[in-house]
Amino acid sequence: MTVIIKPKEVEVSREVDVLVVGGGPAGLGAAVSAARTGASTLLLEKRGFLGGNITACYVETCNWFLAGTQFSTHGLYAEIEDAYRIEYGRSHDLREGSRRFSADYLRIFLDEFLEKEGVQVILHSFVNDVVMDGERIQAVIIQTKQGPMAVSAKVVIDATGDGDVAVAAGVPYRQGRDTDGYCQPGTLNFRVAGVDTHYLLDNGDKLKEIGKKFEKEYLSGRTGLDCKRKDLPFGRLTRAGVISYINYPCSYMIDPTSNVDLSRGEIECRAYIKQFLNYMRNNFRGFEDIELASIAPEIGFRDSRRIEGKYCLTHQDIEAGKRFDDAICVFPRMYDMLSPDGNMLGDGRLEGEGYKGHIMVHLGPDDDRTFQVPYRCLVPVKTDNLLVAGRCISSSHVAESGIRAIFACMLTGQAAGVAAGLSVQAKVVPAGVNIAQVRGTLEKQGVRI
Ligand SMILES: Cc1cc2nc3c(=O)[nH]c(=O)nc-3n(C[C@H](O)[C@H](O)[C@H](O)COP(=O)(O)OP(=O)(O)OC[C@H]3O[C@@H](n4cnc5c(N)ncnc54)[C@H](O)[C@@H]3O)c2cc1C
Repeated sequence: MTVIIKPKEVEVSREVDVLVVGGGPAGLGAAVSAARTGASTLLLEKRGFLGGNITACYVETCNWFLAGTQFSTHGLYAEIEDAYRIEYGRSHDLREGSRRFSADYLRIFLDEFLEKEGVQVILHSFVNDVVMDGERIQAVIIQTKQGPMAVSAKVVIDATGDGDVAVAAGVPYRQGRDTDGYCQPGTLNFRVAGVDTHYLLDNGDKLKEIGKKFEKEYLSGRTGLDCKRKDLPFGRLTRAGVISYINYPCSYMIDPTSNVDLSRGEIECRAYIKQFLNYMRNNFRGFEDIELASIAPEIGFRDSRRIEGKYCLTHQDIEAGKRFDDAICVFPRMYDMLSPDGNMLGDGRLEGEGYKGHIMVHLGPDDDRTFQVPYRCLVPVKTDNLLVAGRCISSSHVAESGIRAIFACMLTGQAAGVAAGLSVQAKVVPAGVNIAQVRGTLEKQGVRI
């Protein structure tokens, strides 16, 4: 059976120069940098807070892969990190080398930061449709409790992580592995309270040792846990006995864009959390008295749709160190793809392309290999006034596992914001913007290209 949804006439409630949809790392980069070009900028976010996966999925340990390399953050990410440190210090973290955010402090920080930057923000704004005028988005449709709401903009930036706006506009995309479409697993991070902080930090950081021991037990088949994940990364450890981020429960082979699959993933991961708590209480010193402090607001995803753009960045480009005339950012060579089909026993090398286990490739201290992202990866093959930023830009599945890094997403967002602002000023479509001017403006904003 099918039904017909009746057309509705909706008043356009706001008109801006640049509209950014999605308030995660990419959307924050896009909105702030667009506003800095002087464009009137509106940011729409479906949740009640900003930060994307960092705040909604407790991904507080953003740039651990830069540790021990020659690289450091720059551009807006570095600005946010520095300003956050001045206000919230180490986020109560007692572990070494702490560059971790607290998801909750960060929500407050971002509210204030975006207000200072002159970005208009509307939360609770789920965008699920667009109205087209030929190849141009005339208005973006937000679903609200009061019914649909329309806003229009000269340029729209899709920073939804899932390419929701681009797909609504009819832009083609790819999702997951080429053969079966499987994405990386969904993960529902959580926090515990009541750990013995003194014991865990006496004579070095025992959380790392616990992670290693857990993996050994897993590989020997002794844990009896149903979740397939073998790694056990921990985040902040505080004096209050809280571990703020346990990155463990994973649901494999689910579609991040299906509400039915998402429901299954959330429920499956909550059951894993229950098992895990008992397992840790009974098997690890320091965890005997833990209680569940909180579960992240939502299951989080590392990849889903990848929009087809004017260029598709591949891992062959990254390996060849390919340079582009229209490069908008440079990033340390890395890949981190959790096995999409839950194969924990593969060798995890890059050559496996995600079919043979978790790909985990990071730079060592003497390795200075980097990759560039061309502007064309942000420009969809169709739709004149649309740019895409963040994990859903145009790339192959393996290349996405590097581009998905939070810092990289903020860099592509920053580039999209500058390009959108400058194209509004020059009265040209984003595909026709002066790329030298975009790069120059990014450099003035502290981005190294
Ligand atoms: C468990 C887990 C661990 C990870 N660990 C790391 C790590 O250690 N380091 C690292 O660098 N990266 C890590 N990542 C990857 C990283 O979090 C993401 O790749 C990154 O956050 C992507 O940024 P983004 O802005 O493109 O998308 P997101 O962070 O997903 O943000 C998208 C935003 O858009 C909003 N949105 C979505 N759809 C709509 C819509 N239709 N309308 C309005 N708003 C919408 C969302 O609510 C969200 O705020 C991890 C991811 C997960 C899930």
